[in-house]
Amino acid sequence: MSRFWSPAVHALEPYVPGEQPKGQSFIKLNTNENPYGPSPKALAAMAGAGGDALRLYPDPVAADLRRVIGGAFGLSADHVFAGNGSDEVLGHAFAAFFRDKGPVLFADVTYSFYPVWCDLHGIPYRRVATDADFNIHIADYTGECGGVILANPNAPTGIALPLIEVERLLRQHPDVVVLVDEAYVDFGADSAASLIAKYDNLLVVQTLSKSRSLAGLRVGFALGQPHLIEGLVRIKDSFNSYPLGRPALAGAAAALEDRAWFDETRARVMADRDAMSAGLRELGFKVLPSQTNFIFASHPGRDAADLLAELRARGILVRHFRSEKIRNWLRISVGTAEECQALVTAMGEILAA
Ligand SMILES: *Cc1c(COP(=O)(O)O)cnc(C)c1O
Repeated sequence: MSRFWSPAVHALEPYVPGEQPKGQSFIKLNTNENPYGPSPKALAAMAGAGGDALRLYPDPVAADLRRVIGGAFGLSADHVFAGNGSDEVLGHAFAAFFRDKGPVLFADVTYSFYPVWCDLHGIPYRRVATDADFNIHIADYTGECGGVILANPNAPTGIALPLIEVERLLRQHPDVVVLVDEAYVDFGADSAASLIAKYDNLLVVQTLSKSRSLAGLRVGFALGQPHLIEGLVRIKDSFNSYPLGRPALAGAAAALEDRAWFDETRARVMADRDAMSAGLRELGFKVLPSQTNFIFASHPGRDAADLLAELRARGILVRHFRSEKIRNWLRISVGTAEECQALVTAMGEILAA
């Protein structure tokens, strides 16, 4: 609290990111980082983009990177916006498309940053209930609204909706922007990017943080028809003209071009996810079907917060959310095969004790 804060700052309830511990080494399965590291080609490109060139500002419109991103989806660069992590891109999209438009719809169990951006920009919102198994039903997303945001696959549940359902949502709300947050789409779901030519109200947002193992670089992007991209550019250029530095522009482009590294590492993550899910189910956990690099699990006989504390005492970090509907669930990121096995072994010991 400070008397110097603007009145609106007092009312903010900021997002709380997962812990990034200093010192003691943990098996870190709490923030959905990728255990395999960035493409070696991306690392080389970033090293090459440093040095004396850093005295010069980067390209404010990220032309080369946007061309590479567009190329990966069969879209031209004018269908692409790049920003400092997808959190920034999403925040800009809320400002560009949802302000002064009526309530934004999103699931009651989803990425907890959405209500934070709404509050930041004074946007009303309505949470739409998921069912008892945390499934999203598009039929429930009806009524007047100023926009819709759908995380697909959803977080922290890991559940993906088929594209036909995303299309249904786009047709249900043709006069507002439907934002599809695809932070985890590369781990087994279908991207709505293929629908962009058909729907002028679709904006797809992706990140290099998870499937490209570049959470520390901060690169995310949006795909949509040029009129939507232009809206994002207007916000960007009213906020920060240079969201991506030279190393980020070079590293992100090289990472997207290294298809082999991408395919090999995400295949490993998907295989280890399924093995870890099976291991926990054998221990009596309920595990939701995941198309992401994390699983969402609950044990009928044990309190999730207690399990988290027991795991932490054994050097393993996972994530727990306090909201009522998911208070007995843990979100566990997929690490290396050894880390996943260590998690299952530790859970077995905790349950047996
Ligand atoms: C991780 C995540 C993001 C943000 O990723 P950035 O690191 O900011 O690119 C956005 N949406 C969801 C659902 C996420 O889990």
